[in-house]
Order: sequence, then structure tokens, then C-alpha cells
Amino acid sequence: MKPAPFHYHAPKTIEEAVATLARVAPDDGRVLAGGQSLVPTMAFRLARPRHLVDINGVAALSRLVVEGDQLCIGATVRHAAFERPAANGPLGELLKDVVRHIAHKPIRARGTFCGSVAHADPASEWCLVAAALNAEMVVRSARGTRVIPAKEFFAGIMTTALQDDELLTEVRLPILPADTRFGFYEFNRRAGDFAIAMALVTYRLKNSVIVEPCVAIGGAEATPRRIAQAEAALNGRAPNAETFAAAADTAAKAVDPLHDENTGADYRRGLVRTVVLRALKRAAA
Ligand SMILES: Cc1cc2nc3c(=O)[nH]c(=O)nc-3n(C[C@H](O)[C@H](O)[C@H](O)COP(=O)(O)OP(=O)(O)OC[C@H]3O[C@@H](n4cnc5c(N)ncnc54)[C@H](O)[C@@H]3O)c2cc1C
Repeated sequence: MKPAPFHYHAPKTIEEAVATLARVAPDDGRVLAGGQSLVPTMAFRLARPRHLVDINGVAALSRLVVEGDQLCIGATVRHAAFERPAANGPLGELLKDVVRHIAHKPIRARGTFCGSVAHADPASEWCLVAAALNAEMVVRSARGTRVIPAKEFFAGIMTTALQDDELLTEVRLPILPADTRFGFYEFNRRAGDFAIAMALVTYRLKNSVIVEPCVAIGGAEATPRRIAQAEAALNGRAPNAETFAAAADTAAKAVDPLHDENTGADYRRGLVRTVVLRALKRAAA
């Protein structure tokens, strides 16, 4: 099928983009970034936006730079940009490790980091990264700029704090200290599929015990999030099999798993235990 008819807008600046959005958002206007989620839903006529605001010609949105202690990821930066380290140290390596789990090469060449975050699929790898690392979302509209912390951004399945007339111009990730250990583990049935459950963990060691632990889960619940109880089970403990098993058990107990006809909640809870344990083992390797 072909998409329903729509009006096409191609702004060249952020100001022009937000002014256009202010005008067309009330008439079902949507941002078009990489088009890898929006266009298929339009082709199936599950979405019928009357206006598309194509941001691909806005040069200011293509920046991928380290500024101070943050990596700034502009709205048109593609997934593929992370196939090489985008920052020195563990952050660049973490993003490089995660990106190969997103879809397939042609989709990674076109889809964007910010588009994934705005789309907020519960199984999006970049949403998990944003939640785990306490990303900041920089949002512009004709009304001004606001910065939304990840904790307040993800509101539900494909639901965020973004208003219809707002453009996510940039996501900012903190540069991780050089001694940060990380581990990512994703389970899906076929390579390139969305995750059924995935975990991203980070921690540092001080006097041979874990400090600043982060345990985040994606794909298992309506939104990706850090699991404070599992982090408490790691904090101040030696990074050994017993500690990791206790944290994985705690994470499994703490989640409220999604369930559908293919994947029951109990199965997903079991997967959470497994992906956390395997992510922790990777971090320690
Ligand atoms: C076969 C297939 C497999 C896939 N597998 C995965 C996977 O394993 N993991 C994964 O994470 N994703 C996967 N995807 C989705 C892919 O990563 C998309 O690229 C991504 O979800 C959306 O990014 P986009 O730039 O293509 O956004 P678009 O499709 O252009 O937009 C998606 C939505 O976000 C809004 N939007 C986009 N950018 C902005 C912005 N800057 N400000 C405000 N709103 C915005 C749009 O209006 C739209 O509603 C898959 C897609 C396909 C087709």
C-alpha cells in the first residue's frame, strides 16, 4: 500500500522547523527523521499524518560532538554513526557494542538515535541507553527550549513527554569515567529483531568493591528504566558470581513485565534474570 496523501515541508533551520511544527502540529503534522518507523506505519495506513516536517535538511541537527562532559547527539545523527566510537573511553565503546543489535544495516544507515528516543518503543536499544545513563533530552518549540531528564521523558509504550509541536533537537549523554565497566546483553528470537528483554549495566570498582552501579532493563516493561533494588544489591559488594546472581534475582522480582500472546509475563521475568546476569558477567570479563 501507499501512504495517504500528505503535505511535505523541508525546513533548512531549527527555527524554521519549529515554526513549521507550530503551524502544522494541530493539523496532525509530524516530524520525519530517518523514516524507519514512521514510513512503514504510513505505508500500512496505521498512521496518516496530514503534514510531514522533514528535518533531514537542517544542517544544525547533524552534530555529534563532545561538549564538556557530555556527548551531544543531534536529531539527524544515524544509528550507523555509532559503529565507530563516537567518544573516547567506555562511552564510545558502549555505544559501539549496543548499535550492532539495532535492526539491520540499511535501517542503521537511515534511522536516527533521536528518532528512536522520540518514538519510544519499549524495546529500543537507544531508549535503554538513555534511561541507563540519565540522558538529557533537549527539546525546542516556538515556545522555547526545555531540557527533559530521561527519568521524566519516557511515559509509556511509545509515549513521551514531548508535545506535538516540539522537536527533539539533541540527546546528551554523560561521558563515562575511564574506569567504568559496562555490559550489554539482549535476547531476541532472530538477529535484528526487537529485544524481548535486554539489560545494560555499568559500574566502577573502588578498593575491589562495586561503586556507582547502574542496572537498566529494556524490552521487558512499558518503558526502559534503572532498577534501584538491583543496584543496591551490587553497591559495595565484590564483583563475584554470588553478588551477580543476587542482583539478577532482585531485578527479576522488581519488574512488572509486559505480556502478549507470544511472550508471557513469567517468561519475560525469567529473561530479565538471565539478561542481567549475562550483562554483569560481560562487564566483569
Ligand atoms: C525491520 C525493522 C527492524 C527494526 N529493529 C529495531 C531494533 O531492533 N531496535 C530499535 O531500536 N529500532 C528498530 N527499528 C526502528 C528503527 O531503529 C527506527 O530508525 C527508529 O525507531 C526511529 O528512528 P527514525 O529516525 O527512523 O524515526 P522516524 O521513523 O522518522 O520517526 C519515528 C517517530 O518519531 C518522531 N520523531 C522522529 N524524530 C523526531 C525528533 N527529532 N523530534 C520529535 N519527534 C521525532 C516522528 O514524528 C515519528 O512519530 C526497526 C525498524 C524496522 C523497519
